[in-house]
Parts: sequence; structure tokens; C-alpha cells
Amino acid sequence: MEPNDRVVVLDHPIVQHKLSILRDKHTPSSEFREIVSELALFETYEATRDLPLTNVFIHTPVAPFDAKQIAGRKVAFVPILRAGLGMVDGALAVVPTARVGHLGMARNEETHQPESYYDKLPRDIASRRVYVLDPMLATGGSGAAAVKYLRDAGVAGTIRFLCIVAAPEGIERLLAEDDDLVIYACAVDEGLNDDAYIVPGLGDAGDRIFGTE
Ligand code: URA
Repeated sequence: MEPNDRVVVLDHPIVQHKLSILRDKHTPSSEFREIVSELALFETYEATRDLPLTNVFIHTPVAPFDAKQIAGRKVAFVPILRAGLGMVDGALAVVPTARVGHLGMARNEETHQPESYYDKLPRDIASRRVYVLDPMLATGGSGAAAVKYLRDAGVAGTIRFLCIVAAPEGIERLLAEDDDLVIYACAVDEGLNDDAYIVPGLGDAGDRIFGTE
């Protein structure tokens, strides 16, 4: 896959409108949380576009019918704590039968390097299609560490990384560190500032989701 095939930006007007509300520093936590969830739903819808289908024979109230249903590997969503938690409900609205694994990767504010502090994955994670959830793809440090953790846990095939805002630096790092990864984002911003925040970004997503600013 070429790099361009590995980054999907949702340019839908509704997505862009909602993202602008997230970016606004006056948006209250309750609305911020709601919109993060909605954008996660849209991203999951897009990122599950290639789920394989199989035929199933049913009877509608009117006629017998060869219908379609989802086939193949089951889905796991893996939010990176803590901001990724804000995307779980939206993702589960699209695939309610998915399992949810948790990975705690905290950013050390001085070194900007990820530190793992918690993990709990479904036992059969290796046989699932995995969607990592993290609203902000900044340096890519915690994202890359999460993807490596999943590979070490046996996850094969394409890992889909769902974020809301991505920085070019993070995209480059994730794509360089894993050959079979596709990134979904609502926007690719200019870059990072000296504190490794995305510019213009939307601030600290975890703080804004949980009201801890
Ligand atoms: N994490 C955030 O929540 N925001 C950023 O801008 C960068 C990392």
C-alpha cells in the first residue's frame, strides 16, 4: 500500500462541522464528549467499509430472500487510555458485538515518550480485526507503542488506527513503524508545538472529555 492509501481523512461536511465545535475552546465538556463519540461512530462506519459479507437465507414478511450478513473475523476496539475511552461508545454503536481491550499509555510530559501502565485485551485478540481508538495522533509515540504491543500479542493483518485529529509527524511515525496499518482521521493539522500539542488541534482531548482542565 502507498502512504496515501493508508491515511483516510473523513472530509464529509457534517464531520468537518462537528470537528469545528470540538476545536472551539468555549465548547463545554458535555458537548465535547458527545461529539467525540459521534465522530468515532462516523469513523468506525468508514473503517468497517471492507468487512466481508456472507449470504444468509431469510424470509421477509413478503418473500424468501438471500440476504447479507457480516462474515469472518470478529472485531475488537482498543482504546488507548484515557482519551480513547471517549470513542468507545460511538464505535460500539456501529459494531455492538465487538470486544473492547484497554491499553494504558501515558505521555510523560517531559520526555514525551509513552509509558504503559495498564493493559487488558480480549483473550482471542490475535484472531480479531483490531481498531485502535485515540482521538489525538500527535508524536505517534503512544500510538506506535500500542500497535507494537498488539503485534506482540499476535494481532495479524491490517490494524486500523482511528483518531480525530492527526499531526503529520504522528502519521509518518505510525506508517513507518508498521507496514499493515491504516489511519482514519477527521483532519490532518499543521504539526506539533514545543509541548507536543497538535496545532491548531483542540487541546488536551482527555482533559476536555473528562472535564479535568
Ligand atoms: N494529546 C492531546 O490530547 N492533544 C494534543 O494536542 C496532543 C496530544
